[in-house]
Amino acid sequence: MENNLFDNTEIAFKSKSKMDLYRGYYIFKIISKPIVVSISKFFLTKFPFLLGGLTKWFVKSSIFKQFCGGETEKDCIKTVENLSSSNIYSILDYSVEGLVDNYAFDNTVSRTLNLIDLNTDNNFPFIVFKPTAIGEFSLYEKVSKAESLSIDEELEWNKIIDRFELICERASLKNVSVLIDAEESWIQPSVDQIFENLIIKYNSKRATVYNTVQAYRIDRLFYIKELKNKYFNTSVNIGIKLVRGAYMEKERDRALDLKYTSPIHNSKNETDKSFNDCMNYIFNNINLFSIFIGSHNEQSNTLAIKYMSNHKIPVNDGKVWFSQLYGMSDHISYNLSHLGYNVAKYLPFGPVKDVIPYLLRRADENKSVGGQTSRELSLFSKEINRRKNYSKV
Ligand SMILES: Cc1cc2nc3c(=O)[nH]c(=O)nc-3n(C[C@H](O)[C@H](O)[C@H](O)COP(=O)(O)OP(=O)(O)OC[C@H]3O[C@@H](n4cnc5c(N)ncnc54)[C@H](O)[C@@H]3O)c2cc1C
Repeated sequence: MENNLFDNTEIAFKSKSKMDLYRGYYIFKIISKPIVVSISKFFLTKFPFLLGGLTKWFVKSSIFKQFCGGETEKDCIKTVENLSSSNIYSILDYSVEGLVDNYAFDNTVSRTLNLIDLNTDNNFPFIVFKPTAIGEFSLYEKVSKAESLSIDEELEWNKIIDRFELICERASLKNVSVLIDAEESWIQPSVDQIFENLIIKYNSKRATVYNTVQAYRIDRLFYIKELKNKYFNTSVNIGIKLVRGAYMEKERDRALDLKYTSPIHNSKNETDKSFNDCMNYIFNNINLFSIFIGSHNEQSNTLAIKYMSNHKIPVNDGKVWFSQLYGMSDHISYNLSHLGYNVAKYLPFGPVKDVIPYLLRRADENKSVGGQTSRELSLFSKEINRRKNYSKV
């Protein structure tokens, strides 16, 4: 009998071969060493041409294989089927970053529309994109600051709005939900504004569009409360993807540089409390909200289950989703889906050289979130040992 809901490694790693387990173990072992991550980061960002031949093969068969589904949508099929056999949905995420022109933005839109069209049998209920993958960062920033736009900028901004519209309209038709990722706080006001226009149009029957709330931001519980006050008397269903937030250091550095008060909570405990408070508030108003919980934190996931039970929400209610990134926290994803909860994994894909920034962020994250890496390591070794002992019986 396991004492923790997520301790069952037999369920967590049931789709992993012995080879997969050893690969996962050694990858987490390597990226738990900050010096190794820093050196790799230096070489891969300063000398990207190094990523050819043997180095590419090494990256592709190690860290890329751990955290990505493949280089193309087609490459991901095996992984998607594998996850699906455990009732876990895949959210294909084209994780190429740093796209900065209209050609690239339109490309992201057509790729996203194609992904929406894959949803033939409710097999791909979500798609996701970053606002800066369909529009220029500086424009989001300007609109967020309520600065006036030149005629050209106005035209470009309208193109961005049209891209959001195109994606959400098609998603609405195909019964797919759209997750809008959150990035830096200083571009978020413009995204929040777009989100509200979209939910009025597309979220009356169900939560087609989800905005991301980063609980490490001091003002986000207030934001959720404001949304409730605005829409509680309407037919709008507010989709919220709740995460802690991935840009903490960048946010703090900028606040320090530009001499304003950091918008981020001062400690991990405060962020944890904020996450739980946001979640509690949403569950208390679940008639109005749909929630997509993106977290690798065991306590938060356990608390969500408790709230669901307190509010008598069926485990597979379409208003509540749990999600983790592919290659991380399988013990949470697989044990939740085993209990019947709705679970989806972000499944990044893209050419190896182009997803390097994504991979480096995963490595960085696992380097700085020491506890999480050692948890992954101990889960992998627990399962390796369990299988060794089992084969001895
Ligand atoms: C499915 C999914 C989707 C995601 N989408 C987004 C997204 O759109 N935008 C985005 O920004 N992130 C996103 N993330 C990443 C997320 O924000 C977190 O960085 C990551 O999941 C780690 O948080 P946790 O809840 O899993 O785990 P935990 O390990 O419990 O929390 C780590 C997080 O706590 C916060 N934290 C750590 N130390 C401190 C401190 N000293 N002071 C204040 N806060 C602190 C940071 O946010 C840190 O990332 C996503 C994650 C998942 C799983």
